[in-house]
Amino acid sequence: MEREREALVNSLVRRGYIVSANVEEAMRRVPREEFVLERLRRDAYVDTPLPIGVGQTISAPHMVAIMAEKLDLEPGHKVLEIGSGSGYHAAVVAEMVAPGGHVYTIERIEPLASFAEENLKRTGYKDSVTVIMGDGSKGLKEHAPFDRIFVACSAPDVPAPLTEQLADGGKMLVPVGGRMYQDLICVERRGSRYLKKSHGGCVFVPLIGEFGY
Ligand code: SAH
Repeated sequence: MEREREALVNSLVRRGYIVSANVEEAMRRVPREEFVLERLRRDAYVDTPLPIGVGQTISAPHMVAIMAEKLDLEPGHKVLEIGSGSGYHAAVVAEMVAPGGHVYTIERIEPLASFAEENLKRTGYKDSVTVIMGDGSKGLKEHAPFDRIFVACSAPDVPAPLTEQLADGGKMLVPVGGRMYQDLICVERRGSRYLKKSHGGCVFVPLIGEFGY
């Protein structure tokens, strides 16, 4: 599987999805095959989303790379992810914020929260990632503010609680749009100002919750 992983990362670099050394290193390290269903292991390094059960998917590697690039992650960052799914994306981000950083990830579907937690434990991310069951559209007030927030599902609009939980100088990525197609929106906080930028089209499963669909 290591050869396949190398080949996938090389192709993400060649195709321009990976530009930064820290994104490349993180994606070379995290074993995606440990985050997919047993019967799909041999497809772990195809650049496509894969089903993880309960109608949800692990994002395509190129989408994880795009989001990791846009988030400007640094060692020491406290990060919030909405939509743990398999835990793969959280592991990649945990690599990038080490040492000293931490990833909190929220999942609303119990079997997936357990799936993510087990995958993260088995691959050595137990101490750098905390999986929490609940409605992530409300954020995670008790651990706010966050240096970075990313939403791995699509919202009808930027959820207000997430904006409120962003640290000054912080950045958030959230796919905003309809259920079928969204724009990847970046919100950057500068004091009381919030700068919004679109990074183009994407397709995610919907954010279901109080500040989602
Ligand atoms: N980041 C994941 C993929 C996420 S798929 C990975 O690397 O595998 C999107 C996930 O968001 C799904 O598991 C879905 O159940 C979850 N989700 C949807 N609405 C949510 C909400 N309000 N709070 C937390 N998780 C939510």
